[in-house]
Amino acid sequence: MEALPKQIASVADQVQEWVWDELWGRQAPTNWPVCPRHPDSHPMKATAQGAAGVWACPNDDAVINATTAAERIGLRALIVDALDGKAAAFYARHGFKPFTGKPLRLFHRL
Ligand SMILES: [Zn+2]
Repeated sequence: MEALPKQIASVADQVQEWVWDELWGRQAPTNWPVCPRHPDSHPMKATAQGAAGVWACPNDDAVINATTAAERIGLRALIVDALDGKAAAFYARHGFKPFTGKPLRLFHRL
């Protein structure tokens, strides 16, 4: 099993792709999460750093904790609705856990 910081970073990466898709679909700017130092330039990049999963600026050492970013958008766990059992199994392999009695709705704590 991967170390937790790496897991958080890869989940954050996945969330970022989902958010990008969503923003792209709305024709909104896709630089999310916004870099605090270069807000008009680029998004932060999810990465494992020491004992934490963090969002980091790709250009300098600006770092915000991935959990903090998740709290900013009101998210403590990722919830997915899988289309079918095969998709649910895919999420389960990536650390998601099904809700009791709802095998196609899964969550991943951040
Ligand atoms: Zn930056």
